[in-house]
Amino acid sequence: MPPSNSDSEAPLTEVAVRQWGPWTVAGGPDPGFSDSERHTHHWLLTDPQLLTCFRGRFSDHGDVDYDEMVRCLDYVWDCPHDASANVTGYCCAVCGRTRAAAVPHLSVAASR
Ligand SMILES: [Zn+2]
Repeated sequence: MPPSNSDSEAPLTEVAVRQWGPWTVAGGPDPGFSDSERHTHHWLLTDPQLLTCFRGRFSDHGDVDYDEMVRCLDYVWDCPHDASANVTGYCCAVCGRTRAAAVPHLSVAASR
């Protein structure tokens, strides 16, 4: 390993940081969810108390960023077919699948 001659060259840049796309509601309502669920998720995504809410539910969880948080809370789902991020309760904005159609295992887990 050659010595680094720059302090700004942090090894962190080598870590694969997953880039999340911005979430969207452009896919339209998912019939698998009620209007109230849909509106709640959408509203909670911009809730200034989101972090507090997250800490309350996942107190063991370490530092998280916003994108990881909203996925842990199940407010956003990622379509595995096109990697678009959609608000839970809305269909995929790219392919139009419902969440149940795109990620069946998620729906099973959620109905426990
Ligand atoms: Zn999709």
